Amino acid sequence: MRATPETVLRRVRGLIGTAGNERSNVAVTRLVLRVLLFDGGPVPAWRADAACAAEPAELFDPEPSDTASIAEAKRVCAGCQVRAVCLADVLGWEPVTRRHGIAGGLTAGERDRLVAARRRTARQEVAA
Ligand code: SF4
Repeated sequence: MRATPETVLRRVRGLIGTAGNERSNVAVTRLVLRVLLFDGGPVPAWRADAACAAEPAELFDPEPSDTASIAEAKRVCAGCQVRAVCLADVLGWEPVTRRHGIAGGLTAGERDRLVAARRRTARQEVAA
């Protein structure tokens, strides 16, 4: 069974959040996240080309008021060769009510607006 994002977050918080390992051992944290996010299955091939793989994971999960980190994460995404597939991937599984962080070069709010715009366009095309 594939883990839901809520399950993943709960597991991550339980495993590394309270232990405080996320800052002291980034490699272990990434390994734990990979196992949890992909249920131990193979990581999608495009992830090997992700520009964020060489960046601190917390950079892509900034507080909404942390404009400097948001801008830095978006700068990394802008130069990422798998940005389009990353965005399509996250839009495919991310619950509308639980969007957070930077993915595919967009903030959670920007992804919300993109999805809403796509839905409006789809409805207009059906109505036309
Ligand atoms: S677009 Fe951004 S979040 Fe997605 S893989 Fe590339 S760097 Fe990472």
